[in-house]
Amino acid sequence: MPSRLAYLKALEIDVWERRQRAGIPSQQQGAEIVDLLPPSAPTQSQPEVAARQVELDDVSQLPWEDLKAAVLGCTRCPLHLTRTQGVFGVGDPQAQWMVIGEAPGADEDRQGEPFVGRAGQLLNSMLRAIGLKREQVFIANILKSRPPNNRDPRPEEVRACLPYLFRQIELIDPKLILCVGRIAAQTLLQSDLPIGKLRGKLHRIARDRPMIVTYHPAYLLRSPGEKRKSWEDLLLAVRTFDSLRAGS
Ligand code: URA
Repeated sequence: MPSRLAYLKALEIDVWERRQRAGIPSQQQGAEIVDLLPPSAPTQSQPEVAARQVELDDVSQLPWEDLKAAVLGCTRCPLHLTRTQGVFGVGDPQAQWMVIGEAPGADEDRQGEPFVGRAGQLLNSMLRAIGLKREQVFIANILKSRPPNNRDPRPEEVRACLPYLFRQIELIDPKLILCVGRIAAQTLLQSDLPIGKLRGKLHRIARDRPMIVTYHPAYLLRSPGEKRKSWEDLLLAVRTFDSLRAGS
C-alpha cells in the first residue's frame, strides 16, 4: 500500500481522491500500515553507576555513555524527586533523523523510554509512513524527567535539562530534526509564536541543523482535523532531507 495512504489510514483520515505522491524516499515505498500495539519496551532500572553529578558546563564534553549516566542520575531540578527514572532517549545514536518531543509522560516514566504511550504509537505510524522505523531514528525529549501530572515544563527545569539535549544533538549529528509539539518547538526556537506559525517551514537550530516542526502526536489524537497538516510537515521534512542529501 502506498505510504501516504498508509499514513492517512493509520491516522484515520478519510481518503477521497488519489493524489500524486510527492518526493518520498524509495525505501518507504513498501511501508505497511503500522499496527498500533504498544511496543515491548523493557523497564529500565536506575543506572548502577553512582549518579555522578556533572556540572552543566561539563555536559558539553561528555561522551555518549557518560552523558546517559548523567541524565539517568541527574538531580539538577526537583523533578528527580517525583520521577520513576530519567528518560534519556531511544534509537540509533548515529541516526540521520532525530525526533524531539516535550517530556516523558506516565508510560515513559514507567518504562524509561520516550514515546511509548498512545502518542508514541502514533509517532511510530508517522515515521513508518515516511519510510522510517522507530529504531532508525533517535527520539528524545526536552525534559528527561516527567513533570508531575503532565504539567508543562517550567523554565528552570528546561534550563537545567536543555544542555543534555544539545549534547545529544551534537553527538548524534542528525541530518534532520523533527520537532513535535508546541512546547518543544517554542523552546528550541526560543519563540512565543503558536505552533501553527512555526510548522510548515524550515528552521535551523544547534549550529545550523535543519529542523521541521509539526504537531505533537498527542495533540493529533485530540484534534484529528490537524492530521493533514502534519502529513504536509512530514513531506516537507522528507523533501528537506532528500535535498540536503543530494547536495552533500
Ligand atoms: N510526549 C512527549 O513529548 N514525549 C514523550 O516521551 C511522551 C509523550
